[in-house]
Amino acid sequence: MQLPREVIVGNGVLKRITEVLQRLDLNGPILIVAGMKSCQIAGKQVSDLLQQNGINVDTILVQKVTRQDILMVEENIRRLKSRALIGIGGGTKIDAAKLSASRQKIPFISVPTTLSHDGIASPLASVKGLDKPYSVMAQAPLAIIADTDIIAQAPWRAVISGCGDAIAKFTAVKDWQLAHEEKEEYYGEYAASLALMSAKLVIENAQLIKPGNDKGLRVLLEALISCGVAMSIAGSSRPCSGSEHLFSHALDMFKFPHAMHGEQCGVGSILSAYLHDTKWKRIRDSLKQIGAPTTAAYLHDTKWKRIRDSLKQIGAPTTARELGVKDEDLIEALRIAAKIRPERYTILHKLKLDYKTCEKAARITGVVS
Ligand SMILES: [Zn+2]
Repeated sequence: MQLPREVIVGNGVLKRITEVLQRLDLNGPILIVAGMKSCQIAGKQVSDLLQQNGINVDTILVQKVTRQDILMVEENIRRLKSRALIGIGGGTKIDAAKLSASRQKIPFISVPTTLSHDGIASPLASVKGLDKPYSVMAQAPLAIIADTDIIAQAPWRAVISGCGDAIAKFTAVKDWQLAHEEKEEYYGEYAASLALMSAKLVIENAQLIKPGNDKGLRVLLEALISCGVAMSIAGSSRPCSGSEHLFSHALDMFKFPHAMHGEQCGVGSILSAYLHDTKWKRIRDSLKQIGAPTTAAYLHDTKWKRIRDSLKQIGAPTTARELGVKDEDLIEALRIAAKIRPERYTILHKLKLDYKTCEKAARITGVVS
């Protein structure tokens, strides 16, 4: 199990990067992986700080996270004999740094400039052009330095996406429990509780999550870091990625410009929660029919309406139209989602939905009109 050794969160904490590197005994050479924008926002500052402290540093810019990008970063790690990698940016730049550092067996430090999903602290990375559309195991960051002054400059939509990704843990954990009950899959209570706590934290503090409120950003940041830790403890993305993520990957496969990861997962979570509810209602009705007690079955109600209302409160999309997707494409994505990852048992694998049932779920939940 790999866990971050240092997590520093707050206003202006970027300045502490040298002190963190020194504590971790990483005195260079260091390679910074950033995008054009994240280099201007934070990369340049980090590079200057390290140089002022006599640490040998180079910066490499990446556009996307394709196989070629990873190979190019790895080539630079070897050439510069880098002892650690600092990934600075949103999802893609962090993922590029995470994966190449892991392949070259050197530590990686995460400096997020946006909070659009839980990859900022997780041991998994998602790379375009691999045969799998979902994340692959890489390594957890050795340190996370999250400067809220920098994160606050990112477009608000990224925060909304991050909230969607955190709220989605309700159904990810539900799917994990289902796989444990029906397929005897390993289930880690602690990792599951940590992921659930992150979702609850965001829902309970939804009123704080608004532009200009630093407290709200910290809530989301802490929630996303906990999600990353939950995945490190579980040794997989299981606590944080269930049917709602499969739905999001299915939407990504369509050619239209798609919405952000967390926005899609949020809508996926409404649908998955509804499907979980129908499953438990069915069990409850069967129990009632034979005169058995039904209280336990009620406890499993995931309350899709609460997920939808929380997303609405944060300003996240809750419908196909708000995601910029045609109703029929969204329904089709839900239908094919289970096929993306047959081994990851979820409510979609259990129910084996046809187009009509998917349409019914999407209509009842108001996701399509
Ligand atoms: Zn996610």
